[in-house]
Amino acid sequence: MGYQHAVTAYRPLIAGNWKMHGVEASLGEARAIGAWLEESPASARVAICPPATLIARLSAAMIGLPVEIGAQDCHSEANGAFTGDVSAEMVAEAGARLVILGHSERRAMHGESDAIVARKVAAALGVGLEPIICVGESLEERKAGAAVTIVEHQVRGSAPEILAGRPFAIAYEPVWAIGTGLVPTLAEIEDVHGAIRDVLGSLFGQAAGAVAILYGGSVKASNAAEILSAENVGGALVGGASLRAADFLPIIAAA
Ligand code: PEP
Repeated sequence: MGYQHAVTAYRPLIAGNWKMHGVEASLGEARAIGAWLEESPASARVAICPPATLIARLSAAMIGLPVEIGAQDCHSEANGAFTGDVSAEMVAEAGARLVILGHSERRAMHGESDAIVARKVAAALGVGLEPIICVGESLEERKAGAAVTIVEHQVRGSAPEILAGRPFAIAYEPVWAIGTGLVPTLAEIEDVHGAIRDVLGSLFGQAAGAVAILYGGSVKASNAAEILSAENVGGALVGGASLRAADFLPIIAAA
């Protein structure tokens, strides 16, 4: 299938999403990843997104190592009466350089709409964070043949104009593939990624070619090379397989 907007050169991004896993003892896994990458530089950018409580300690542990630190979310407001939330400035000050926004777990369990995600993107950009904006269809939507339409709509609603000229990534994560071991076919991944590239082209013009469109959902060592070779796949967002160096490093090496 041919898409209208040419892909320009950019470094793929392999980002680990630790979700609500990780305490002080888990920093050892990150140190092992950093040490390995220092010895054997990867062609991809590598990021780890730990729980907010570990951002500062992980940043300190990764000084001088080729591992970027990301947050898993931030609030859309700069500050205020939002018990339990963290602002973009807070995670940036703790050491995050990227932030995952609109993950399906946040959309499903915290009621985050496209409009809320777009406001969070603006907040993140305001403090210089690079957003990784997540989109993806449910199993029912996939079965109904609506995956591409749903994802196109999510990208339009979650990626505000203010992103023009700023670094950001999109992560296509089919909800039914997250943590399930199920993975779409390569053709299905390419179909959605091509559609995302085209939506980005209509929103941001030529610059769309430099946006990394990550695939996420049950990526592991055994399927990473094939997924990462697919057209318009510019990296991966990895959940479960990012928690241990032994699982994450082969994925990084496959990029
Ligand atoms: C995720 O949570 O973003 C994810 C892709 O999880 P997993 O790799 O475990 O499916």
